[in-house]
Amino acid sequence: MRFVADIMLGKLAKWLRVLGFDADYQSFDPIHHIGQMARDGRIPLTRQRKLIPLLEDAVFVRYNRVDDQLKQLKQALFLETCHADWFSRCIRCNVPLMAAPEEAARNNIPEYVFYENMKNIRFCPSCGRYFWPGSHRFRMEKQLNRWGFINPFLDLGRKS
Ligand SMILES: [Zn+2]
Repeated sequence: MRFVADIMLGKLAKWLRVLGFDADYQSFDPIHHIGQMARDGRIPLTRQRKLIPLLEDAVFVRYNRVDDQLKQLKQALFLETCHADWFSRCIRCNVPLMAAPEEAARNNIPEYVFYENMKNIRFCPSCGRYFWPGSHRFRMEKQLNRWGFINPFLDLGRKS
């Protein structure tokens, strides 16, 4: 399931990416861009009622809060996610992350992070940023857990 989100749904696009979905989002608002993406097989997500008649199969997102928005999509589209796919995509670029070559990772991230996460470091081939399962990701996983996206392997008792 692939998406294109309108200008008012940047946060939703980000969290869809966190969950592993391909979610196109541009911070400008050309209807023709969304239309083009929709013809390319993406489901348009919009907060703007006026766009609904212009976009085939568009989902009108009814809520302002991202947790409500995700809940709506979960119900409306039978959105299913697997925790194995979470954090597999660059949140900024929407590009699948790749395993980082050890040498490059060693040179580009703090040493302690490298040694703690050696096998789990990935990078974005588009923006070049490195990602690892650190405290930032843990906070996001806890957030997902509260929203009903459950990773059975998440250790909620962990400090950070
Ligand atoms: Zn990136």
